[in-house]
Amino acid sequence: MEAFFTEGARVWVREKEQLVPSTVNSCGDGTLVVTTDYGEVLYLQTAEVTRERVYAMHPSSNEGVEDMSRLAELHEAAILHNLHLRYKKDSIYTNIGSILAAVNPYKQIPGMYDPDRVELYSKHHLGELPPHIYAIANECYRCIWKRHDSQCVLISGESGAGKTESTKLLLQFLSVMSQNSAGTPPTEKSTRVEEAIVQSSPIMEAFGNAKTVYNNNSSRFGKFIQLHFSEGGNIQGGCVFDYLLEKNRVVRQNPGERNYHIFYALLAGATKDHKEQYFLAEPPESFHYLNQSGCIKDKSLNDKELYNSVLEALKVLEFAEEESRDMFKLLSGVLQLGNIEFMTAGGAQITTKQVVSNASDLLGLDCFQLSEVLTQRSIILRGEEICSPLTIEQAVDSRDSVAMALYAQCFSWIVRKINQKVKGKENFKSIGILDIFGFENFEVNRFEQFNINYANEKLQEYFNKHIFSLEQLEYNREGVQWDAIDWMDNAECLDLIEKKLGMLALVNEESRFPKGTDFTLMEKLHSRHSTNPYYVKPRLADHQFGIKHYAGEVLYDVRGILEKNRDTFRDDILNMLKESRLDFIYDLFEKVGSRNNEETLKMGTARRKPTVSSQFRDSLHSLMGTLSVSNPFFIRCIKPNMEKNPTVFDPEVVINQLRYSGMLETVKIRRAGFPVRRTFVDFLSRYKIISKNKVSTVGDDKKKNMDLLTKYDKTKKEWQIGKTKVFMKEALEQRLEKDRDEV
Ligand code: ATP
Ligand code: MG
Repeated sequence: MEAFFTEGARVWVREKEQLVPSTVNSCGDGTLVVTTDYGEVLYLQTAEVTRERVYAMHPSSNEGVEDMSRLAELHEAAILHNLHLRYKKDSIYTNIGSILAAVNPYKQIPGMYDPDRVELYSKHHLGELPPHIYAIANECYRCIWKRHDSQCVLISGESGAGKTESTKLLLQFLSVMSQNSAGTPPTEKSTRVEEAIVQSSPIMEAFGNAKTVYNNNSSRFGKFIQLHFSEGGNIQGGCVFDYLLEKNRVVRQNPGERNYHIFYALLAGATKDHKEQYFLAEPPESFHYLNQSGCIKDKSLNDKELYNSVLEALKVLEFAEEESRDMFKLLSGVLQLGNIEFMTAGGAQITTKQVVSNASDLLGLDCFQLSEVLTQRSIILRGEEICSPLTIEQAVDSRDSVAMALYAQCFSWIVRKINQKVKGKENFKSIGILDIFGFENFEVNRFEQFNINYANEKLQEYFNKHIFSLEQLEYNREGVQWDAIDWMDNAECLDLIEKKLGMLALVNEESRFPKGTDFTLMEKLHSRHSTNPYYVKPRLADHQFGIKHYAGEVLYDVRGILEKNRDTFRDDILNMLKESRLDFIYDLFEKVGSRNNEETLKMGTARRKPTVSSQFRDSLHSLMGTLSVSNPFFIRCIKPNMEKNPTVFDPEVVINQLRYSGMLETVKIRRAGFPVRRTFVDFLSRYKIISKNKVSTVGDDKKKNMDLLTKYDKTKKEWQIGKTKVFMKEALEQRLEKDRDEV
């Protein structure tokens, strides 16, 4: 056995294909005893102890490094271990070049986000201080002027990994920078815009977030927030885009989960008067839409406090009192709708007349008309109205569809209102922040997961493009030497989904086809794509199809896809809502087009309402358009365990996330490459000030640049000269920037 296995020595031990960081307990008598960092004690016989099985750890892995690309040992386990070491010291942030890994601490770390930290990070360059989300925010802000282009921050990670918290921290930092920025002093208007943007979070979270099994404050919609900056550095305005709110949650929740926070907040916070007027005097347990999952409360959620913060935020955003009142009436109306019950008597009949009357009052509807549409369906055929009774199941569906439509329209209206308030001039550059649902793979995956995973596939493509392919292209073009790295291209998988005749096209085609069913869709998918290597045709299940995503294989249940994609809303129900006595409700539905009445059918497909997935694809493409002209920053949020526990770092859970986020390849490429590049002219003009006394003034730009770079690094390890540009490692740029500031 090797001599360096002394007591206390740090080693890597290979266990079940994995390298595990460990400490030697004892070594002698033919046995090596080690304790792994994850608490296991291993007894290894001399014969087993090969160089392959156990080897000494490099000191950089022992101490932990702030930037992964400085790790001497570059394998998955070393990255994992580095995160763990830092996590134990409450250093939750780690750099991978300009990419930031953020491990969710599941606790407040004292001082971490204090105002003086904002101040500190705003005065330093990236790399000068320990990694922090504020350092990324600061770099992003500075890049507007450094690079003269718009910036974006893409935040990714599983549910509960910390994306939304990160978004809020970025907004908070940028809003302070805006307020402090030199140049034009902030006008009254622009101060309000910053506050309005920050205050839009509690409202959007109250209406769009809910407790799930993965996260007590899970965002059930995706969002992209754009901040428009003036040349002087102030936020002039902003814009929020929302994606795919989960509508079903309004009427149904899985065990242990809740409906949207706002319902519980309203019940906990409404005044006595409101409770009486809006029929809210009963406890949450008495509402069908809140009591199905067995979960009403959670100790991490304070519903009353949320109610107050929503009221406060509505004030800042200048929602008129009537508007807030109408919104709360709508929510109360939805709760009443949920309590409408049916029995069967030659078709569904309502048994809860009083509840229908309450709901009609709150929503400004005609009580009789509401009862009618919930229990029978009427269609106009050749000018004549034909009514047919509904079964109980159909009646429940129609009730739920009214509730979902009301809620979804109200959510869109809120986003529109926020946008009206924060709208401002777009005269210079912007910073966009994307907080979108991470990759999902549940026991049963449906239409929602299909769309979410499609979005993630698109974002991964963008990530790959920036981190890998553009990199390769640029090196080749500029004739710079470097070691190419293997990475996982997802272009073919995306082709399968979105190219001509791809899966999305089939789903849409079948949705428009009157006789199309989920099963005809599945047959078409199978027959057209089963030979595609990224398509999975399960051998046993007869209602599933699968895709091999970059993050793993997912099987989707075909049942319900067409209905959700068509998102049809019965015309008689729509018309009733359009007849509401309340302007608020009327306005919400005024522009909602129908897709299946006689007139629209006659007009052909051209003017029919687009399907959900084609709308989503269009908004995704428009988002990608914005991102493609922005300089990206990536934040990879990581969950340390599945129990929301502030002390546990579960290696299995973490490694999984590292794998599919392409973290290892990223570290490798960052280390092999030269991520910072400047044209000769840019470089010269930026660093003229520090080259003054250091280099001679003769020669062309290229020569002058080389002279300065050589002064900083004779070995040329940290830089290279291309045909038109200077290529540098980040560390060298950081030294140059620092010196430039100090002149
Ligand atoms: P989802 O996809 O479900 O919306 P998410 O990635 O947005 O998930 P968050 O809601 O941001 O996850 O975080 C989940 C919880 O983790 C937060 O409610 C908070 O309790 C905790 N958390 C996340 N980030 C931090 C942090 N930086 N400091 C302290 N706690 C945090
Ligand atoms: Mg979230």
